[in-house]
Amino acid sequence: MPKTANQSFETRAVHAGEPRPRVDGAVTLPIFQTSTYEFHGQAGYHDIRYLRLNNSPNHLALHAKLAALEGSEGALVTASGMGAISTAVLSVLKSGGHLLAQRGLYGGTHTFMAAELPDFGMEVDFVDLHQPAEWARKLKPNTRAFYVESMTNPLLEVGDLPAVVQFAAAHDLVTLIDNTLATPVNFRPIEAGFDLVLHSATKYLNGHSDLVAGVIAGRAERVDTIKRKLDHLGATLDPHACFLLNRGIKTLPLRMERHNRNALALARWLDAHPAVDAVHYPGLPGHPAAARAQALFSGFGGLLSFDHKGGAAGAHRMIERLELAAEAVSLGGVETLVTLPAETSHVGLSPAQRSELGIGDGLVRVALGIEGEDDLLADFERALSE
Ligand code: PLP
Repeated sequence: MPKTANQSFETRAVHAGEPRPRVDGAVTLPIFQTSTYEFHGQAGYHDIRYLRLNNSPNHLALHAKLAALEGSEGALVTASGMGAISTAVLSVLKSGGHLLAQRGLYGGTHTFMAAELPDFGMEVDFVDLHQPAEWARKLKPNTRAFYVESMTNPLLEVGDLPAVVQFAAAHDLVTLIDNTLATPVNFRPIEAGFDLVLHSATKYLNGHSDLVAGVIAGRAERVDTIKRKLDHLGATLDPHACFLLNRGIKTLPLRMERHNRNALALARWLDAHPAVDAVHYPGLPGHPAAARAQALFSGFGGLLSFDHKGGAAGAHRMIERLELAAEAVSLGGVETLVTLPAETSHVGLSPAQRSELGIGDGLVRVALGIEGEDDLLADFERALSE
């Protein structure tokens, strides 16, 4: 494996984890499409070379590359972002454990915690990241972990992440952070003191809207414990998806630069548009988390949302007129996508619950791709003009 410790993030994205010498001289790591390998007397079950045990050459290359990018000792890939989240949370909490989790998490994560954890004998309390006094009130003798996101979806809130790390250290809690929206290009939670970093690699890490995958990164011992859980639960990423994810990660820094730039440009433009009420993007000085995001992140990511003055009807009219941006859920791909969270990601909540979270019927979420900035602005200009 090449030595990448002192190399730039861009160089590590390309070279870290790639086997040396190259496999049969192949410049890109081939796909090892085999479920099993010759037995060579491995001592324990988890070291047997078998695809579900997450140790194919495609897995090992990705694990090392992701650890090099997150600045962690170890990393694991999983069959989806939810596979990473569920495996890590189940592994850290154990039966009888209690979790503190940020209010307003990604809907799939929130539902997993609220609906599934009790079936495993685990409890969760959701807390407001802006109200640290509430964290202490919700703490229990069996609280084991604190779960947050680096930025929330769709309003791009940024909690007081250093305070979460301090609170967890004071109360002996494991910290887990979903870093999907920031990516290690914009924020590296391990450097900020978090224990476990999670990703939906489906999004920016892969970057091409053509697979689902997840990532768990952290201290080697902790990641190894979670790998054993993953071996048993079976949410293994298949080698072809590993290959595609590895290919996607090589261009992550280049793509994030453009996602960051396009989102900032559209946020500024929308902020001045008469058909728009409020723009939610932490790169804008008016965003409630602007100062915190500025202090923690080196870029603000490719996701923004805004309230259309014409409500749901106005937002629908705009979406119909967009030519470049497609209406679809998900984010992090090279193409720009728009969606109305009230009808998609948050449709399971009542209107009252949505309005409590600040998600109105006319809220439009835009996941900026890497197209040319002028073309994107022209697309929204045409679509927003009545
Ligand atoms: N975390 C965040 C922030 C997400 O946006 C998503 C999916 O949208 C997930 C986790 C779940 O990832 P996946 O769909 O890859 O299971």
